[in-house]
Amino acid sequence: MINLTLTESLQKLNSGEISAVELTRAYLNRIEKYGADLNCYITTTPERALADAAASDARRAAGDAKFLDGAPIAMKDLFATRGIRTTAASRMLENFVPEYESTISQKFIDAGTVLLGKSNLDEFAMGTFSKTSYFGAPISPWQMERRLTAGGSSGGSTSAVAGGLAIAATGTDTGGSIRFPAAITGLVGMKPTYGLCSRWGCVAFASSLDTPGPITRTVDDAGLLLNIMAGHDSKESTSCENNFSCTGPVQPILGDGKKLRVGVIQEFANVEISDDMKTLFEKRISDLKSMGAEIVEVSIPNILDALAAYYIIAPAEASSNLSRYDGMRYGLRVEGNDIYDTFRKTRAAGFGDEVQRRLIVGTAVLSSESYDVYFMQAARVRRMIADSFDAAFKQCDLIVCPSSAGTAMPLDSGLTPLEFYALDLFTVAMNLAGIPACSVPCGLAQNGLPLGLQVVGRRFDDMRVLQLAKHIETAANIDNRPTTIMGK
Ligand code: GLN
Repeated sequence: MINLTLTESLQKLNSGEISAVELTRAYLNRIEKYGADLNCYITTTPERALADAAASDARRAAGDAKFLDGAPIAMKDLFATRGIRTTAASRMLENFVPEYESTISQKFIDAGTVLLGKSNLDEFAMGTFSKTSYFGAPISPWQMERRLTAGGSSGGSTSAVAGGLAIAATGTDTGGSIRFPAAITGLVGMKPTYGLCSRWGCVAFASSLDTPGPITRTVDDAGLLLNIMAGHDSKESTSCENNFSCTGPVQPILGDGKKLRVGVIQEFANVEISDDMKTLFEKRISDLKSMGAEIVEVSIPNILDALAAYYIIAPAEASSNLSRYDGMRYGLRVEGNDIYDTFRKTRAAGFGDEVQRRLIVGTAVLSSESYDVYFMQAARVRRMIADSFDAAFKQCDLIVCPSSAGTAMPLDSGLTPLEFYALDLFTVAMNLAGIPACSVPCGLAQNGLPLGLQVVGRRFDDMRVLQLAKHIETAANIDNRPTTIMGK
């Protein structure tokens, strides 16, 4: 059963071939068997899962099945879940049990899904290998003995879905945290248009960039998840009115003489990427060409400055957002001699090194001496990048580019913070511009590990992004079930 995609499972659930309880038990068994090794869950909720599943079977029996009824999913442990510990992978929130439900997790409840647990991530979603988690890093189910990263920050979600410990999962993407981990674990990871999915009840990192989205085995599955995740939320001020809908298989956008202009970013041509990535990129582009797409070169002049702008804007917003963790209102409290000493001791003990580094950088770039030269400058670069994308989308309908330079690295690769930051080169610009981008498997490298390509679109062109992603998925046609763990 764990080899079925979400789409296939729903068909079998609806036809009565399998029950939600059976499907849930299959996933709970997988969690029991591999959960500790992969470290993909911070909290598992087996009792809740079985109760959800029984309720789902009852609804289906009564002819009352909901859209994703009975689908066992993992929720990134950044989404507040009522009565279930929500840690953001931080010591600061180690024992935080929310009294409210985030909009996204509520939408999953309303769609009838089964909650398997809260998936691991980088502390406050700051990182790229999920190594900054207070609960230790998850690993990739691919070539498990090599202890490769499942990526970050949504690395628990990708580890769980790739390893068959959840049928699908949620992620959040502030600078690539859905797309990078999905790419290196052979999954589909969609960062929707900013504002399409509500951030309400999702622990904030950088509010102008944070974007919830789906992580799944196929593009069709991503469409189904996005169908329930998208929608205006009056509780969230940046949430947009939209009419995104995807209730069945994602439809072709190429073939039958359909016209489509696909852009390739000039500036990325000079970035060093692995030979495998180069070969697969060219292969997939030529596939698109043979399906009738017109390939056009586009220029996003400042795209290589996106990293620098991101690593000013994101920490700046984080330093403001995380000021609420002061030992008074939320989470950990370490008593000091006076109130300031309590603030200091609590924050020193509650935040890990990477989070502290970001808070220091963020505070510095917002200080009155630095504001103009750093923060305002970064904001200008951000504007220029967004404008360049708008201009590029006058010449093409969608853009295709690599999701990463190469395949998953071992967890203990010993990268410096700056080397980690550099891994986000291909992903951060889309967050700065607020546009949708989906990473889809584009093939396997010589070492047997998956690689991904991104499809990027105009704001609110999320459906077309998925449509082109599906063509790439079909052309690449990889088996994204890692041999070591999927028992093939
Ligand atoms: N790797 C990036 C960072 O460390 C992106 C994180 C994210 O998207 N949440 O900030």
